[in-house]
Amino acid sequence: MTSTNELESAIEIVRSAVRICRDVQGEIAPGRWDKEDRTPVTVADLAVQAVVSAALAEAFPGDPLMAEEGSSELREPAWADLLAKVTAHVHQVRTERPEPSQILDWIERGQQPIDEHRRYWVLDPVDGTKGFLRKEQYAVALALVERGRVLLGVLACPNLPATLNNSSKGPALGQLYAAARGAGAVRIDLGAGDFVVSRQPIHVAATSDPAVARWCERVESSDKNHDLTSQVVERVGIRTAPDRLDSQAKYAVVARGEASLYLRHSLNREYREKVWDHAAGVLITEEAGGKVTDVHGKPLDFSQGRALTANHGIVATNGALHDRVLAAVHDVLVRLTGNS
Ligand code: AMP
Ligand code: MG
Repeated sequence: MTSTNELESAIEIVRSAVRICRDVQGEIAPGRWDKEDRTPVTVADLAVQAVVSAALAEAFPGDPLMAEEGSSELREPAWADLLAKVTAHVHQVRTERPEPSQILDWIERGQQPIDEHRRYWVLDPVDGTKGFLRKEQYAVALALVERGRVLLGVLACPNLPATLNNSSKGPALGQLYAAARGAGAVRIDLGAGDFVVSRQPIHVAATSDPAVARWCERVESSDKNHDLTSQVVERVGIRTAPDRLDSQAKYAVVARGEASLYLRHSLNREYREKVWDHAAGVLITEEAGGKVTDVHGKPLDFSQGRALTANHGIVATNGALHDRVLAAVHDVLVRLTGNS
């Protein structure tokens, strides 16, 4: 079981990571980043993983961490400049100014083998890397998992406005979402300085009428996934155009009731979803009253290692539309692939 201590610690740890992301992103000249140069997102990924790993090791020394990044490349002399940048950003948060060798060890902790019978933390330091580089949506996602189930999830979306239709000018102040199993989901406004202003419970949309439902999906369209999703929503009777967002911000917009469906499926049968791309967002959606399964209606199984090897794709809904969406996915897959 989780305690308030774990949730509060996770919120504080993620908020400190947001400071790094904002500073690194601020160094990207508007509209001027080179598509080939992923340095900013790499610096943010590695610095965030280091500070989150360190803080978790201090607060919960017995818990392992599964995280997306590793340190092996960064240990090579050719990457000394990158390591210097990562170190400078870690020092923003860790004022004791740890040595680079310590920072490398913190990063590497995220690659340790996980015993899925024990509880473990899972981190996506910068989820939605393409959105981060475009200065659009990205997320810092941290979750605690035990026996294949998510116990708590924290999702910071530093560029997400309070509503997608927000017409006000200027950068969004960002939102943080948090949930503990059985305790509901809340939103926290991230102020300009990441100052916590308030906490409000969030709920999925109540509608069971597809004609008024909104939906969201990935920005990136790999292997025709947008063709599949548009056929499914048409079959369900949803009439709106999708909101396309990078990262687990998609789960946040379902959890807060703006979208009633987030559908994700790869027609590449070999592709398996990564644990860190979903754990936090899934619990926040479920605790807001929604439902999340794979495209066959199976619960997501987070006990299979670093990927969701027992599942195919993701269907996240407000609950009321779930069965209709599953039926439509089934029909479309049969038509497209000859089997489901
Ligand atoms: P999103 O921001 O929703 O597009 O998700 C980004 C994540 O998608 C990345 O972190 C990858 O782990 C994952 N990803 C990469 N390739 C694929 C693919 N072909 N299908 C589904 N997810 C993918
Ligand atoms: Mg990711």
